Amino acid sequence: MKKFTFDYLSPRVVFGPGSVSALPDEIERLGSRRLLVLSTPEQVELAENIVDPLGDKVAGFFDGAKMHVPVEVIQKAKQAFANADADSIIAIGGGSTTGLAKALSMSLGAPSVVIPTTYAGSEMTTIWGITQDGIKKTGRDAKVLPKTVIYDSLLTVSLPLAITVTSALNAVAHAMEGLYSTELNPVIESMCKQGICALFDAIPRLVQRPADVDARTDALFGAWMCGTVLCHLGMGLHHKLCHTLGGTLNLPHAETHAVVLAHALAYNLPYAAPTKRLLEEILGTDDVPGAVYELAKNAGAPLSLAEIGMRTEDIAQVRDLALRDQYPNPRPLEADGLEALLNNAFHGRRPAYH
Ligand code: NAD
Repeated sequence: MKKFTFDYLSPRVVFGPGSVSALPDEIERLGSRRLLVLSTPEQVELAENIVDPLGDKVAGFFDGAKMHVPVEVIQKAKQAFANADADSIIAIGGGSTTGLAKALSMSLGAPSVVIPTTYAGSEMTTIWGITQDGIKKTGRDAKVLPKTVIYDSLLTVSLPLAITVTSALNAVAHAMEGLYSTELNPVIESMCKQGICALFDAIPRLVQRPADVDARTDALFGAWMCGTVLCHLGMGLHHKLCHTLGGTLNLPHAETHAVVLAHALAYNLPYAAPTKRLLEEILGTDDVPGAVYELAKNAGAPLSLAEIGMRTEDIAQVRDLALRDQYPNPRPLEADGLEALLNNAFHGRRPAYH
């Protein structure tokens, strides 16, 4: 084993079905007196039920969380924080709600407790994102990491199957790209493996029985592992392409990840032999991109960028934007290769090494 330095960053984690009952103790531990509760409009009722045991410590609700954290939403949430005279935040929901909590922690220094209800994994990362005038800026800041994350799989049972599958594939993407990161260390490698195994095992079970609590619990554990990977390693082509597709064409986040992952692996793995071998071992196949594609297909996930809003004429634009980025990636970014990747993903073709 090689020498390595590991600066481990993690919130305190309370994990398991029913673990939301620990919320009052976690709030006590934090010393919070007045809480602003964040959610999307769809999750208000869920949020109200969850914070009910906190009584008058709940000083206000803000239910306007939106995908990609628009600055206008941050302004309104800051106003709600001030109106409530709050000192801390509770975020209940997916990556959009967690993203808003992070923006508030960054600008107000307010500590947060996050209760995730999807598998995006944002709660485990120091990465923030803010969208202004249609452009999403991202960065890293340890201040945005929640103080406590409560992973209660019972709260994910209501997640519709389509979002369940794409969100879980979004998480798998963190761990798969992590395996060829130049910053990989043996601790995070084992988290990559655990995340991939848990989610590859849980996704087909959830397709059969979306309310299976054991499968929900395994998937949430996988999401935790994969989010931790995302926090500690720089990502490659897959994440950069998804960022470009989301940012310029406004394609939906998790669905884009679900479509692109198999194609990004087909592009990169021939140039990342140890990762290819490891993934083949983990999945028990010599066709890793095909296995990811089949998993998505059998789970009913979208397979083509065309079906989630991309147009043929967008391919050249995305290829050119992708070529402008510079970051570590196993395979150099080549115009022809990227165009082939985007074409295959656009049409939803089964990926093959090329
Ligand atoms: P999301 O938070 O927008 O949730 C997707 C949908 O699921 C929403 O309509 C929401 O109302 C619904 N939902 C959530 N939980 C539910 C539940 N239990 N039952 C029923 N419906 C439920 O989407 P997401 O995929 O979780 O997150 C995507 C966002 O997170 C993107 O903006 C992405 O950039 C960001 N993200 C950030 C990081 C990071 O490290 N900063 C990591 C991953 C994702």
